[in-house]
Amino acid sequence: MKWNRFASIPVCGVLMVMGVVYYITIFIFIEDWVGLATSAGTLNAVIFTFMAALSLFSFAVSVLTDPGYVPSSSAPDVEAASVLDPETQKDVSFLINFSESSQLRQCEKCARYKPPRAHHCRVCRVCVLRMDHHCLWINNCVGYWNYKAFIVLVFYATAASIYSTVSLICIS
Ligand SMILES: [Zn+2]
Ligand SMILES: [Zn+2]
Repeated sequence: MKWNRFASIPVCGVLMVMGVVYYITIFIFIEDWVGLATSAGTLNAVIFTFMAALSLFSFAVSVLTDPGYVPSSSAPDVEAASVLDPETQKDVSFLINFSESSQLRQCEKCARYKPPRAHHCRVCRVCVLRMDHHCLWINNCVGYWNYKAFIVLVFYATAASIYSTVSLICIS
């Protein structure tokens, strides 16, 4: 877990946009549509607050969770009893099954053996297990440990955006 990943302009930008969209949706769109004092307004505000909270939570998890780094001890002759992730100390031996791959690959930059589906990230300067891509907006790689949080984030953020757009259409 690295809190300093929040110290990036795109990450702060996402947080600002989330805050602005939340404020506008509640205090302008829903307020002008049904009024916050009504039961319909309160219900809509509660539903949208819930969606915004889920988006914010999954965003924070995506940013803070280490994507899964290749342990320095990983080598083709490792019997995979238990190989610990250097950051999280979780057992990642099931990801480092060299017997599955017919041909061994070595990372030129890290000078370490690369397990199947691990890729080197130029931004993080490290090999990442089951790397999907490096996402600028979470200032982190999307890898084995945070891909679920990332997919959930995309889902909630899309749902909240649709909700906000519908409430805008309703007032006009
Ligand atoms: Zn590498
Ligand atoms: Zn990366």
